[in-house]
Amino acid sequence: MRILSVVEESVVDGPGIRTVIFTAGCPHRCKGCHNPSSWNPAGGEEVEVEELVQRIKVSGWDGVTVSGGEPFLQSSALAELVMACKSLGKNVWVYTGYTLEQLEAMHDEAVQTVLDYADVLVDGRFEQSLRDMGLRFRGSSNQRIIFLNKV
Ligand code: SF4
Repeated sequence: MRILSVVEESVVDGPGIRTVIFTAGCPHRCKGCHNPSSWNPAGGEEVEVEELVQRIKVSGWDGVTVSGGEPFLQSSALAELVMACKSLGKNVWVYTGYTLEQLEAMHDEAVQTVLDYADVLVDGRFEQSLRDMGLRFRGSSNQRIIFLNKV
């Protein structure tokens, strides 16, 4: 999986204390993006999913958040990571610039696996005109915190 960074002890990317994995590459090009350096899919570094899982295991925080960038650009690795985190008993949030409906319309097995296993999807592009600093865990009011049905 190609990642930009791993941040430990986050309290702003979901409930509790979390490990946050920022993935490389984003096609959405939102105006006002907080991190345009995340757009390059060849940026960051390549790491094995198993390496990330071991790190998460050692860190021992309540939850794991995968953000970007656009995590679904690497849907197979994302599905592997989400399933492994769930097997460790972690609460898993995934951020995406796609809407849930757009993801479902892809009819992609790995994408669907992520939707089946993750606890929460925070969806939608960042819309500068809808930016609201008062929102918890979101940048703009069009984005939704969606509690997913679990398998
Ligand atoms: S989805 Fe996120 S990372 Fe991608 S361009 Fe929009 S704000 Fe930036």
